[in-house]
Amino acid sequence: MSELVFEDTLKNSRAYHLLSNDFRLELGHAYMLVSPDDDTVKEFFTLIATTIFCETKSACMHCNECGKVLHGNHPDLAIVNAIGENIKVEAIKDLTEDAGIKSFSGTKVYYIHRADLMNTAAQNKLLKTLEEPPKGVVIFLGVSNESAMLDTIKSRTRTVYLDIFDNDTVKNAMLDLGVGEDTASLAADCSEGMLGKAYKIAKSPDYANLYTSALSLLKGLSRSTDVVALDHSPVLLKQTDEFLNVLSIVLRDMLAVKGNNPVLSRHVGLQIRTLADGFSMKAISEIILLINQARRKLSLNVNVQATIDSLLFSILEAKYKWQ
Ligand SMILES: [Zn+2]
Repeated sequence: MSELVFEDTLKNSRAYHLLSNDFRLELGHAYMLVSPDDDTVKEFFTLIATTIFCETKSACMHCNECGKVLHGNHPDLAIVNAIGENIKVEAIKDLTEDAGIKSFSGTKVYYIHRADLMNTAAQNKLLKTLEEPPKGVVIFLGVSNESAMLDTIKSRTRTVYLDIFDNDTVKNAMLDLGVGEDTASLAADCSEGMLGKAYKIAKSPDYANLYTSALSLLKGLSRSTDVVALDHSPVLLKQTDEFLNVLSIVLRDMLAVKGNNPVLSRHVGLQIRTLADGFSMKAISEIILLINQARRKLSLNVNVQATIDSLLFSILEAKYKWQ
């Protein structure tokens, strides 16, 4: 990677400001950077590393030190598991041995990507280093699934949650990347406030289709003849898993709007807000349950057409039962 995709947005994030305070005062020994958006976690770490090593401590992205970080050849920076696979104890053993060797600059920085994929032996090995951290060593753990981390590790690291960005911020980040207006809006609407997710959506023509179909399904389902019309739709039958996944995201966002929780619903766009007006909270919750049941059935190889039929009728029923 030679430059950061979301540099400006991440520099303005709450998470970055929190860490900047540490940079000014004193860096801790270990941090967990938490978000399900693992590509963005990696990028956020790169921003932190440039901030630590930058000649002007500003993550300028132009000086020699920033250049080395961006090109992956900084002598005091090591990245473990860049591709995000399972991490065995050997990889952590290499890290802990290396951490004992003196640095060039006075600070040595390690980043373990998807640290939640460390097995227990690997986590316990790392714990020993966290208990007695060598001087000048800082370890960052990129974590998608916080519950996979041992409590003993959590208690020895400072946890920083990446921001859930609001809809406008995500949309603007997409526009900055040259994404067209409509696609940027759609990507922001479906992103759940995550930059990396929005970018993936913006680049996937399929996703736009699925999303539009999910919205029209919820909008258009008002009588049983609609079910008959819908249940042969190719998107439902051929991309069933993906479609149900997108449908669940739409419903969860509708629920966030209904719940009037300003934090949870910040990233939700106008289309979903309008759609949510037509459903009660109870109806939305029940439909989410119905979709989960349908997904379980499909995972057991039950007939797709029959499952979709029954799902659509139950959604229709739920919509009106809980008006
Ligand atoms: Zn610099």
